[in-house]
Amino acid sequence: MSKGTSVPYFDHNATTPLSPCAREAWLRAAGESWQNPSSPYRDAARVRVRIEDAREEFARLLGCRTEQVVFNSGATEGANAVFAHWAGALPPGRKIAVNPTEHPCVIEAARHFLGPGRLVWLEVDPDGVVRLPALEALLAGGTVAAVSVMAANNETGVLQPWREVAALCRSQRVAYHCDASQWLGKLPASELGQAGWLTASAHKFGGPKGTGVLIWPAQAEGFRSQRGGEQEHGRRAGTEDYPAVAAMLAALSEAESRPVQPAAGRPCWRDDFVGQIRSAMPDVRVVGAGAERLWNTVSLIMPHGENHRWVAKLDKRGFQVSTGSACAAGREGPSHVLAAMGIAPEEARRAIRISAGRETTQDDWRALADALVAVKAEMRSLP
Ligand code: PLP
Repeated sequence: MSKGTSVPYFDHNATTPLSPCAREAWLRAAGESWQNPSSPYRDAARVRVRIEDAREEFARLLGCRTEQVVFNSGATEGANAVFAHWAGALPPGRKIAVNPTEHPCVIEAARHFLGPGRLVWLEVDPDGVVRLPALEALLAGGTVAAVSVMAANNETGVLQPWREVAALCRSQRVAYHCDASQWLGKLPASELGQAGWLTASAHKFGGPKGTGVLIWPAQAEGFRSQRGGEQEHGRRAGTEDYPAVAAMLAALSEAESRPVQPAAGRPCWRDDFVGQIRSAMPDVRVVGAGAERLWNTVSLIMPHGENHRWVAKLDKRGFQVSTGSACAAGREGPSHVLAAMGIAPEEARRAIRISAGRETTQDDWRALADALVAVKAEMRSLP
């Protein structure tokens, strides 16, 4: 059974439980370092120094310069800040190209700050992977000033070739934003800081909710994500939340020092699970099966029945899974991610997302497979 949760929790792409090391770091920082870092006495100065130490450590983990690291409230704030900046700073006649499988915080920020006239959607293949030759041809045309492609998809776990996208953008002097929310803490962080603009949230990897990090590229002169005081070296106004930063750093340091990787030469537990499901239910479809995916995520199109019924029945059996992105869950209609992959709405309505965490055991995966098989039999017997 997953530690720290009362039931097997398979919705880590929505959020993760606070990791014990993050909780400890938060409590210590909240007890010892609660002063406002901008205040004019020594205790406050000590908090200021701790924030700068944390910034330096983030820069080391991500592979960028310390001054490029901005602590904020997370990926949604980050994406809004990047697109607001691009709207004002990039030449108005040039377009911004966005991957259509991005999280709503990127898609809606792009729509809001740029408007339809400045937006172009990138081509993706049936697994939802951005087509690099099409991107290369688009950039060679010289009409695009910036590109946004995530590192890993929250609904399907599909990995994007973000290093190649970053290199293409660099070679064409085009700005690049990478939403690394689902990559950070699950796969190595060390090259992310070189991507360009980078945004992420701590609660996706065992840190607290409402805190995150933004990396801005050194050449982005004049970038300010919020106006007010001079916090975050003038890049993001607002009193810093040092305990949250300390907790986020503890969670990321742990994830980096103890990566969850399958043992050499054997598939990961997620793949064992998929094998179990496929032999019991050959008519289940794995979304993005042809692409490299996060080790923790699988999106399944069930053979029949709407996804919310599967989710409710699994919940009754003690398993928490999702119909897709938590942020989109309140919205009507099938997922825009699956639609961009060419999946028909009637199939997309049968999609469930399963996402494990660092604490998920092999027994949890096996028990979930058994529960899915039992729910399938139950669903078939219903009118
Ligand atoms: N980007 C991705 C890929 C996500 O999965 C999420 C959260 O679901 C976000 C951005 C937004 O994160 P937050 O709600 O913490 O701002």
